[in-house]
Amino acid sequence: MIPLRSDPPPPTADAVVIGGGVNGLSTAYELARRGLRRVVVIEQGYLGSGSTGRCGGGIRQQWTTEANVRMAQESVEIYEELSAELGYQTFFRQGGYLMISENEADRPAMQKAVELQNRCGAPSHFLEPRDCLEIVPQLDITRVRAASFCPKDGTAYPFAVVWGYARAAQRRGVDIRIHTRVTGIRAEGGRIREVVTERGSIATPVIVLAAGPWTKSLAAMVGVQLPNWQERHEIMVSEGIKPCLNPMVISITNGIYFSQSMRGELVGGIGDPDEPHWTDPRDFDTRCQLRFAVRFARALTAIFPPARPLRLMRQWAGMYDMTPDHRPILGGVPDLQGYHHICGFSGHGFMLAPIAARRMAKLITTGQPDDIIDSLRLSRFAEGGIETDHFVVG
Ligand SMILES: Cc1cc2nc3c(=O)[nH]c(=O)nc-3n(C[C@H](O)[C@H](O)[C@H](O)COP(=O)(O)OP(=O)(O)OC[C@H]3O[C@@H](n4cnc5c(N)ncnc54)[C@H](O)[C@@H]3O)c2cc1C
Repeated sequence: MIPLRSDPPPPTADAVVIGGGVNGLSTAYELARRGLRRVVVIEQGYLGSGSTGRCGGGIRQQWTTEANVRMAQESVEIYEELSAELGYQTFFRQGGYLMISENEADRPAMQKAVELQNRCGAPSHFLEPRDCLEIVPQLDITRVRAASFCPKDGTAYPFAVVWGYARAAQRRGVDIRIHTRVTGIRAEGGRIREVVTERGSIATPVIVLAAGPWTKSLAAMVGVQLPNWQERHEIMVSEGIKPCLNPMVISITNGIYFSQSMRGELVGGIGDPDEPHWTDPRDFDTRCQLRFAVRFARALTAIFPPARPLRLMRQWAGMYDMTPDHRPILGGVPDLQGYHHICGFSGHGFMLAPIAARRMAKLITTGQPDDIIDSLRLSRFAEGGIETDHFVVG
């Protein structure tokens, strides 16, 4: 990789991407791949220092809304070739995702979701509880009432994906600045004019806000009001044991998810409905909670007995950038030329980034309408009739 710089950024650029997480770097790479020159990425910390570096690396196509299924599917197609495309090992592995429910009442919804996924081309299938044992022999199926499995879901290593995109973007001429915070964005006459950083300003006609949980506050600098809020989510890692778990297991009942890393550790998390909703970055708190450790350990050992004797080795917290329908917000706004956002991914921005970035870059460089970006436009919330995805868990 070309050394990453922190000296003053160039005074002009054709596009400035704010955020050096998976979405910012993949968007910068895709913009450069489409021939846009002088693309600059500005990151306030190190690459992956936001949500991306805290994420579980899960990639699944099992969703309940068509846009999420199609995006995830297209992302998986990109992930399958990504190591070769970027010339960097992303550790993408298709061990599948086993989704379980402990509620009889979820059966019809899970069957309907599988039908939608199959219509979109994702090879998931509905399972009776006893069939889960063929996939995870040590699962306690006395609690399971319905399940589905997609063998093409999987995981990748978030930092490797970030570094791979960064390196490939640099090879195409993208200028990446780390430890450089954006402190202002200037618009005039209905157009984006300038990005102000703590190390100097960049005159630019195009910006892409890919700042994860911080996007809301950056958008407000140019008067764009995003409905997003942020929540803390945590991950726990156990000591390593011999390989016994191939897929990611995820419960739509209590929100636990866990998989086994290549080092043998069990890695997972669980959502907590009592976590506060933040909207101001000054409130963000990524300290670890004992409450999470207890909730996760209880849920894990109940459904996966081999975890019972294990010691917990590590824990960390990061932020989800949430929206009212738990789906991303993509595109621009009608009255501000050159402005774009790619945010609001909740707990699935790592898996959707490759395709969100590819479609965003096409929109930015060609202006051609995109059906998925249009369905995820900001104005959908004001227009009403939003469709929530019911498989947002974790
Ligand atoms: C515990 C946890 C588990 C998760 N598990 C999964 C999973 O299994 N699968 C999945 O798909 N997703 C998962 N996610 C969600 C996923 O991590 C995010 O959706 C995704 O990483 C968002 O990427 P991003 O690039 O948009 O944002 P980020 O990675 O947050 O990047 C934004 C960057 O912008 C920078 N920035 C912010 N403000 C400024 C500024 N003023 N100037 C310059 N730079 C700035 C930040 O420093 C940051 O690096 C998980 C998240 C968490 C917290």
